[in-house]
Amino acid sequence: MKDQGTVDLPTLRILDPRSAWHYHYEYSWKYGLRGAVPDPDAVDRVPYGANERHVLIQGYRGTFSHQAGSINEYAYDFAMPVGTTVCAACEGVVIGERDDSDVGGASPVFRKSANYVVIRHRDGARAEYLHLKKGGVLVSLGADIDSDQPIALSGATGFTTRPHVHFAVFHLLDRSNGPDRESLPVAVSTKEGILRSLVQGSEYRGRYSRSTEWSR
Ligand SMILES: [Zn+2]
Repeated sequence: MKDQGTVDLPTLRILDPRSAWHYHYEYSWKYGLRGAVPDPDAVDRVPYGANERHVLIQGYRGTFSHQAGSINEYAYDFAMPVGTTVCAACEGVVIGERDDSDVGGASPVFRKSANYVVIRHRDGARAEYLHLKKGGVLVSLGADIDSDQPIALSGATGFTTRPHVHFAVFHLLDRSNGPDRESLPVAVSTKEGILRSLVQGSEYRGRYSRSTEWSR
């Protein structure tokens, strides 16, 4: 596993050994990279296999759960039967995953019940793939992932009305008040071409990323 190790944080030193002393600390952490500037020219792919077709059931600023101004403003939901192979839209490192939930439904109370994989891209942005099937994560925390690599099996866990995968690219906001992340619009490579915005209700066919095509 990569990206795991120890890091020294502050060193505590007793200044006056005759005084009573104690210490106390707290810490918190967030996925992502502080100060990262996402690459505006990045092209991802749809999060499923080449030549597979899936309908976009909610696009950017969709009114069900991707509302303008929300943290999911730029997210895509692709309908797919439970157990469909979800593939990485971009290469990176797995920094978060969960697949122990078997619960989901059409209410925000299920928001915290989604299974997921989170991948950090080279430019510091991160992608998340939500609503995965119980036991459906195929990759380990810390693993290097290639674009196109199968990473999970889709499901219907979390806040969802039907089986689908929710795919979004995020940027971490370095602040302590308000939302700590912001979703980003990304160009997506499909058989239909490189598209800056997919249309809700349309069907899109996956294609291999260029690097994968070159190696075949
Ligand atoms: Zn969604």
